[in-house]
Amino acid sequence: MGKPTGFMEYKRLNKSEYKVLDRIKNFNDFHIPFDLKTQREQASRCMNCGVPFCQSAMKVNNRNVGCPLSNLIPEWNHLIYLGLYEEAYKRLEAKAPFPEFTGNVCPALCEACCSCSINDNAVGIRANELFLIEEAYKNGWIKPNKNIKRNGKKVAVIGSGPSGLSCAKKLNDNGFSVTVYEKSDRFGGLLMYGIPNMKLEKEIIERRINLLIEEGIVFIKNTKIGTDLSVDKLKESYDDIVFACGTQAARPLICNGADADGILYAVDFLKETTRNLLDENDFKYNLKDKNVIIVGGGDTANDCCGTAARENAKSVTELEITKEPPLENTLPWPNYPNKKKTDYGVFECNTIYGKDIRRYETTIDEVIKDDNNHIIGVNIKKVRFEQGKIVDIPNTKEYLDCDYLIIAMGFLGTSDSDAKSYNMKINRNRIILNEFNYDDNIYVCGDMKNGQSLVVVALKDGIDCANKIIEKNR
Ligand SMILES: Cc1cc2nc3c(=O)[nH]c(=O)nc-3n(C[C@H](O)[C@H](O)[C@H](O)COP(=O)(O)OP(=O)(O)OC[C@H]3O[C@@H](n4cnc5c(N)ncnc54)[C@H](O)[C@@H]3O)c2cc1C
Ligand code: SF4
Ligand code: SF4
Repeated sequence: MGKPTGFMEYKRLNKSEYKVLDRIKNFNDFHIPFDLKTQREQASRCMNCGVPFCQSAMKVNNRNVGCPLSNLIPEWNHLIYLGLYEEAYKRLEAKAPFPEFTGNVCPALCEACCSCSINDNAVGIRANELFLIEEAYKNGWIKPNKNIKRNGKKVAVIGSGPSGLSCAKKLNDNGFSVTVYEKSDRFGGLLMYGIPNMKLEKEIIERRINLLIEEGIVFIKNTKIGTDLSVDKLKESYDDIVFACGTQAARPLICNGADADGILYAVDFLKETTRNLLDENDFKYNLKDKNVIIVGGGDTANDCCGTAARENAKSVTELEITKEPPLENTLPWPNYPNKKKTDYGVFECNTIYGKDIRRYETTIDEVIKDDNNHIIGVNIKKVRFEQGKIVDIPNTKEYLDCDYLIIAMGFLGTSDSDAKSYNMKINRNRIILNEFNYDDNIYVCGDMKNGQSLVVVALKDGIDCANKIIEKNR
């Protein structure tokens, strides 16, 4: 038992952030780490609960409650409080494959159901996790595992996002010879080319990939399976194939004018921006002094807002088709809260433009273009949901100037053409599977199997998929 009264003595602190007008000048992480004393005090707030909901990996009303990886949270919180950081890290790595990813981008499902949050603020679990993994790198506690006894089996993993990486690592640790194929020019999936640099700095991904290479995993980039290399060819060389290709097909904008130039899909826009940043090139999609409208109200749209702010857009408007969420949480503990939140990107835009940039129950009616087929504006309209259908509200049309329209309306799954190139059958953009199996030697995991989700869910799915292959080979 650590400090039994920590949660009463110390208030939860969130990390300080650089001021909006300073941080939007670059794409760097804008959080300021705690000093050691504060970090230990924050860890001491953990009550080391008899039934720790934080690590429970439950589903309540079909939604994730508690850490899907069942991270040993109370144990490492306690060890941080004692100042035993290396021991704490060892308990962290027992369950968490890549805490530097989740420590930066996880929505902290664990904190939502922390017992402390019933009548006060949750323990800052995610900040503790990030602190530990960064200490581990800094102090050389992470050593590549080079003494792996190989079992003679070969597996190809298609896709280097979180599910592909966690699957590859688990298999490699268990003696399989693993090759990861990636169609992009950098590894990491949406960690690299979706989530912007200020939320997850890209050296962090490269640092981990280098470790995995040292441990024996082979990484091949710029190779799209299904076109550059056929699945039949792969089958000749590997015992098993794992598809971890994510949800590649974005939900399209369907309205008059939807073919205009200047309409960008969110992941294409975010990917190109990160690539330009890393390659030190000018931004291909330069939003400086442009009127930008973002369709969608989720995390992806928020990342587009933060990116538009850093590119000095003239105006940013976010259109959200659903109702404005309640200001007070409507779901009881231990559910993940249901209330309006203002994430970093929207917060930055609200600060810069001096108003809430979000418009709820609003969508695009029509895209207006010039003679060169470039977007110049949009007509928007108010809508509401009636019996599961979207209904227009009459006389609510309004014109807005728009130079760039960014579509962040979610993802459908695997496209018909991709599925065809993998020789796989799909139903409504989902591969038809028996749990992880397409057939005896072909597996699917991560967002490609589950639909769009979270990094932590993809990591767990990759591990579970690897365990199926390990079991089969026992
Ligand atoms: C903009 C954005 C921001 C997000 N922010 C967060 C966040 O803050 N926190 C969070 O928890 N989740 C976030 N998510 C969700 C999270 O990123 C995904 O759930 C997660 O990355 C899914 O992992 P995955 O490995 O299944 O797929 P992906 O990360 O999509 O990786 C799939 C990989 O497969 C490759 N690939 C596809 N087809 C082929 C092929 N035929 N051959 C070779 N390679 C191929 C792709 O290039 C890609 O690299 C975000 C998603 C987006 C779009
Ligand atoms: S991975 Fe996410 S849910 Fe799990 S302990 Fe870390 S922050 Fe919490
Ligand atoms: S639920 Fe909260 S207080 Fe309880 S063990 Fe987990 S982190 Fe600690």
